[in-house]
Amino acid sequence: MGPTITGDVSLAAHTTLALGGPAKHWCEVESVEGLREALAWARDRGVPARILGGGSNLVVADAGVDALVVRIAIRGTTWSSPADGVCEATVQAGEVWDAFVAAAVSRNLAGVECLSGIPGSVGATPVQNVGAYGQAVADTIVEVTALDRVTGEVNSVPAKDCGFAYRSSRFKQDPERHVVLSVRFRLREGKPATPRYPELSRALEGKDGSVAALRETVIALRRSKSMVIDPGDDNRHSAGSFFVNPVVSRTQAEVVVQTALDQGWAATASDIPCFEQPSGECKMAAAWLIEHAGFPRGTRCGPVGQSSNHALALVHYGGGSTAQLLALAREIRDAVQTRFAIRLQHEPTFWGVAL
Ligand code: NAP
Repeated sequence: MGPTITGDVSLAAHTTLALGGPAKHWCEVESVEGLREALAWARDRGVPARILGGGSNLVVADAGVDALVVRIAIRGTTWSSPADGVCEATVQAGEVWDAFVAAAVSRNLAGVECLSGIPGSVGATPVQNVGAYGQAVADTIVEVTALDRVTGEVNSVPAKDCGFAYRSSRFKQDPERHVVLSVRFRLREGKPATPRYPELSRALEGKDGSVAALRETVIALRRSKSMVIDPGDDNRHSAGSFFVNPVVSRTQAEVVVQTALDQGWAATASDIPCFEQPSGECKMAAAWLIEHAGFPRGTRCGPVGQSSNHALALVHYGGGSTAQLLALAREIRDAVQTRFAIRLQHEPTFWGVAL
């Protein structure tokens, strides 16, 4: 039996921002066959189809979308027998990301432990090469199986052909084309990643060095910044980081550093979050730029604002609209542009809206 297609389903109920109007048509698919049938249904009627995962990185227009929204609910994980300390997991796209991380950690497998506490589905992770604390899914992905919506073929794409880059991949570059069906990860037994971020190293002091301790520590750090979805947290309705950390030329970074020193925002250049990349460019922390452009964390504009625990997360406190959220996002983007001549790019996927 094919997927059941219904009408006018609120997308606010399916996004962590709790914003967005209805999907004109809606279905959930639990198999590749179901997905093909849903896409065929839309094609036969000339209706665009949009793919939804966990809704944790999505901004939807208040008017909703005139499309078939297909929620990927394809579930299941298979684990290979460990050999030489290596174990592979093939995880279907609809699995909850953090449940997979928890399962890997409970098997004492390392490779995704720094990515603990991130919301969303497994299928979404290769799309923006989700990363945290110096670890990214591209480090452990062996291959991604995806449906090509143009040819109708299911392709197994080896990691080297996934176009992985900082918070990007070929799936992100060409979003209308690929639907991620499953991801194969290669994990190692034993020692977790060596923490490269000072914040994490400090928090790990005195802990036992296990994969489980690293997971617990990352979750506690994320929780302190409202980056774990907790029902009792006023900052819980967000799409995580709203802007990508910009990677800029060394000259541009030097201008920012000099401005900060001139303004007395930092005592030395090393106090300014600016990280040199292998390309010679510099990655700047978007949250720092935003705060120093006049938008400290906790800034509130009626029913929307910036998380009180993290300037980079825009939050919906209830009773607001996507239009209000985007108006604030534009103000922030423009303030950073005016002060630092750096154009922030949004990180979430936008449906029916633009900045
Ligand atoms: P933070 O410690 O406030 O630092 C701000 C930014 O500076 C981070 O985003 C990080 O870039 C960069 N940074 C800090 N220390 C660094 C180092 N030693 N080397 C290179 N870059 C460094 O970070 P935060 O906002 O609380 O976030 C903590 C971690 O969770 C970060 O890794 C962040 O990226 C990650 N996170 C990821 C997502 C996502 O994948 N969508 C969403 C939310 C948070 P990086 O972003 O490159 O790590």
